Amino acid sequence: MGDIPPRFEPPIRRLMAPGPSQADIRVREAMAQPVIGHLDPATGQLLNEIQAMLRTVFRTENVLTFPVSGTGTAGMECALMNVLEPGDVALLLVGGAFAERMLEIARRCGADVRVVGGEWGRPIPDDEVAVALASHPDAKVVGVVHAETSTGVLQPLEGIGRLCEEHGAMLVVDAVASLGGIPVEVDGWGIDVCYSGSQKCLSVPPGLAPITFSERAVNVRTNRATPMHSFYLDVLPISQYLGSERLYHHTAPISMLYGLHEGLRMVLEEGLEPRWRRHAELGAELLAALHERGFEPYAPEGYRLPEVVGVRLPDFIDDKPMRRRLLDEFGIEVAGGLGDLAGKVWRVGLMGESCTRENVEAVLAAIDTLAASVRPGVSSGA
Ligand SMILES: *Cc1c(COP(=O)(O)O)cnc(C)c1O
Repeated sequence: MGDIPPRFEPPIRRLMAPGPSQADIRVREAMAQPVIGHLDPATGQLLNEIQAMLRTVFRTENVLTFPVSGTGTAGMECALMNVLEPGDVALLLVGGAFAERMLEIARRCGADVRVVGGEWGRPIPDDEVAVALASHPDAKVVGVVHAETSTGVLQPLEGIGRLCEEHGAMLVVDAVASLGGIPVEVDGWGIDVCYSGSQKCLSVPPGLAPITFSERAVNVRTNRATPMHSFYLDVLPISQYLGSERLYHHTAPISMLYGLHEGLRMVLEEGLEPRWRRHAELGAELLAALHERGFEPYAPEGYRLPEVVGVRLPDFIDDKPMRRRLLDEFGIEVAGGLGDLAGKVWRVGLMGESCTRENVEAVLAAIDTLAASVRPGVSSGA
């Protein structure tokens, strides 16, 4: 049996890319519990508890709140595919790679998609959204990424929520990189559909996408004139599985649900406000320390995500070889730039369990060592 590889042993890593983040031992142990069936009454209770905790974290009363079986992108497809039909006008606020992904999915739904903004790294002011809504009074959906992981830019949502309400448009929000790290107020901001991912600020391994639909969004799905193209992501049969009938739709990924349940317990034990404060403080600290070392903040002031610290590289940092050394010599994973930002920026993640002072100090010490090795004679950290 010489062909069988040995049991896979992952290397020891400090996860400081914008996802996946470190999963606590409590979450990993929960995932090692014995498998039970998706129609077992105990699984029903587990799902009910997850749904209740997700409502607390999303700050919503929405009944249809659950984890999609799949990663954040499955959440994105679930959100857009249920509410968009061919010909529907959708305004998409675009400022980075994940907004472009929303755009691509909305187009595949056959929607008549209009781009607002379009320039990477620039938050979109409310008045541009107001102009777009005024020139497209038939807009059904406004889609926006709250925390644009590709740029580290925070897009404020409150004003957009008010504008959508005035115009009767539905607000669909990508909170993959914000939920559990910075404030997200689904009901308070008038969001109709909001989705996230388990492996970012919630610190659960990748594989689930928490999502919530307002009653209006559920009605839009129920009253579609055309059939939903996806069977797997159709929220109508999923809500029958989540409801008291427990009708089989697809097999719930039980071990992932164990992990999410424990991860959400940890989020609520810490408390949302203290958790937001931890991210805000350590993100600001890391950014200031990187700035001192010659890394310029990428996002404009006032729109910087604490959980995705995006910085332009100083001359002495050569992107790929330096990230490779961070990984090989220090076990630290940070992310480079996407698209046009490749080779120009780094994105350092401080998400959930990865957001610790120890990690901030470790990445700074490693950068100082690397900088000293390529700039002999220059004292580190100066
Ligand atoms: C990570 C991310 C996604 C995609 O999630 P996957 O889990 O990689 O499918 C979508 N939107 C944003 C803002 C993200 O950060």
